[in-house]
Amino acid sequence: SALFSAVTLAPRDPILGLNEQFNADTRPTKVNLGVGVYYDENGKLPLLKCVQAAEAAMAAAPKPRGYLPIDGIAAYDAAVQGLVFGNHEAVAAKRVATVQAIGGTGALKIGADFLKHLGPNAKVLISDPSWENHRALFTQAGFTVETYPYYDAAVGGINVAGMLAALNAAPAGTVVVLHACCHNPTGYDLTDAQWGEVVAVCKAKGLVPFLDMAYQGFGFGIQEDGEAVRQFLAAGLSFFVSTSFSKSFSLYGERVGALSVVCTSAEECTRVLSQLKIMVRTNYSNPPTHGAQVVAQVLTTPELRAMWEGELAGMRERIKAMRGALVAALKAAGVTRDLSFVTAQKGMFSYSGLTAAQMQRLRNDFGVYGVDSGRICVAALNEKNLPAVAAAMAEVIK
Ligand code: PLP
Repeated sequence: SALFSAVTLAPRDPILGLNEQFNADTRPTKVNLGVGVYYDENGKLPLLKCVQAAEAAMAAAPKPRGYLPIDGIAAYDAAVQGLVFGNHEAVAAKRVATVQAIGGTGALKIGADFLKHLGPNAKVLISDPSWENHRALFTQAGFTVETYPYYDAAVGGINVAGMLAALNAAPAGTVVVLHACCHNPTGYDLTDAQWGEVVAVCKAKGLVPFLDMAYQGFGFGIQEDGEAVRQFLAAGLSFFVSTSFSKSFSLYGERVGALSVVCTSAEECTRVLSQLKIMVRTNYSNPPTHGAQVVAQVLTTPELRAMWEGELAGMRERIKAMRGALVAALKAAGVTRDLSFVTAQKGMFSYSGLTAAQMQRLRNDFGVYGVDSGRICVAALNEKNLPAVAAAMAEVIK
């Protein structure tokens, strides 16, 4: 029709495209390391025991499904604050506004929409490289999105000097999207001291930090992974934190997340929260019940909470073990280059340092699917598929 004649075909999502290619591959030995999902030792998506227990308790005392408040389940929002901000004074002083969100992505979008109203001309800086959707999401929200240097292929690590220089050069009010822990896609995180430098620049230059926390608990631990948040709190800055429970609860499809905005006073926080609620209200009115109810139940019931912390630690430790096993297998296969970066990286991903051509060879010749950037999902490795993956990687590296 005339209405749609000018509509162009959008390029397809590169990772989804990779999945389609993987599904069409008939080799029984194929391995999908392109995904951003944690698989267990049997290559299956886990359904956590704490989630099953919470759902059983919920099913035993079924509740009607009325609308939730615009900002979501109060007990859930409070539990999120405890997890992200610990027992910091900011929470007790009621100067953190938290709204339940539709996954981490929904939290980023609510934050982006609010920021666009706040400073229509502000630019957004994301890391180079970053999670693909950061650029798209902030662009779609009306921002000009640029990057700050992050990964340096030449040194196989973070270009901290370049990152700090870019932040230093940014005008006041610039929104800086930071990965709170377990950087996606590289797996390289700033050290505590380097966070200190980033916080200092944000403070000195009046930048607006937006911490994306999609992997709390996947790095060193729930507490430990909150270091960046603690440093921003200690500096007395106003900042944003998006939380996702997709990975840490293996609740991808339930879309459970939250946006928290740290303000300077309770009075300011009340005003900010009222605006966040307008963003929610005008996008989807109010959030869904089930996933947040499960997470709230787990986080606020001591036995379930302990169960979750154990299961999360299990996922974290398994990823760590796979990193070690991958390095050992590559060495055993004769790879001589320094591979210590694989075990130094955090979270679900590893920037393997392989070129696009090598990644394509992995795919075409060996049925090992990773992203052309060199990113592989270490959380999709297991004892069964690892030998074949290591052999294939060793072959393309040689
Ligand atoms: N932010 C980062 C850095 C991510 O890696 C992801 C998921 O892959 C998200 C946000 C989105 O999380 P969710 O699936 O909860 O929307």
